[in-house]
Amino acid sequence: MDSAKLERGIRLFLEGLGPAAGSSELEGTPERVARAWIEDLVSGYAVDPERELGWTPVAEGGGPVLVRDVSVASICVHHLLPFFGVAHVAYLPGARQAGLSKIGRVVDAHARRLQTQERLGREVVDTLARGLACRGVLVVIRAEHTCMALRGVRKERSEMLTVAASGIYDSDRGARAEVLSLLLSGGSGRGPVG
Ligand code: ZN
Repeated sequence: MDSAKLERGIRLFLEGLGPAAGSSELEGTPERVARAWIEDLVSGYAVDPERELGWTPVAEGGGPVLVRDVSVASICVHHLLPFFGVAHVAYLPGARQAGLSKIGRVVDAHARRLQTQERLGREVVDTLARGLACRGVLVVIRAEHTCMALRGVRKERSEMLTVAASGIYDSDRGARAEVLSLLLSGGSGRGPVG
C-alpha cells in the first residue's frame, strides 16, 4: 500500500471541504489517517485468510460447532464508513476442527478490507468451507452501519442481519433452521432482528 499517496489524497480531501474545515487541529491528520488505514482498517489485504485457519483432526460424524459473538469491524465499500457488530458462525465438521481463536482471525482477515456485509459473510463461509473441508457452514452477521446512521436515512434501522451458508446448511432447510435457531437464541442477549 502506498502511504504517501494516501496522505496526499487526505490532504486533497481536506482542501475539498473548504476553509470552514481548515484548522490547526488538522496538522498531522493526513499522516494519522494513512497510518490508521494501512495498519488497521484495511490491514486484511496483507493477510491470506486461509492461512489464518489452523485446524486439528477430529473423528467424522460429530455435531455442529457453534461460535457466537465474534466481533466484526469493517469498512463499507460504498461510503468508506465503518460498520460493526458480531458474527455467529456454525459449521458441521468433516475430519477437521478449527481452534476458537482461528475463526475470529478468519473473520478479521476478511473484515479488515473494503466490504459489504453480504460479501463478508460469503467470504468467511467460503474460507471455512474450503479450509476445513466441512459438510456445511453458516455465518450470521448482525452489524450497525454508520453510513446509514449518519446520513439522511437516520430514521431507518441502521442494523442489518445477513445470513450466508454452504453445504448442508444451504441445501437442507431443516438443518439450516435448526442451526440458525441455535445461533440466534441468546448469546448476545438479543433476539433475532425482524
Ligand atoms: Zn455504506
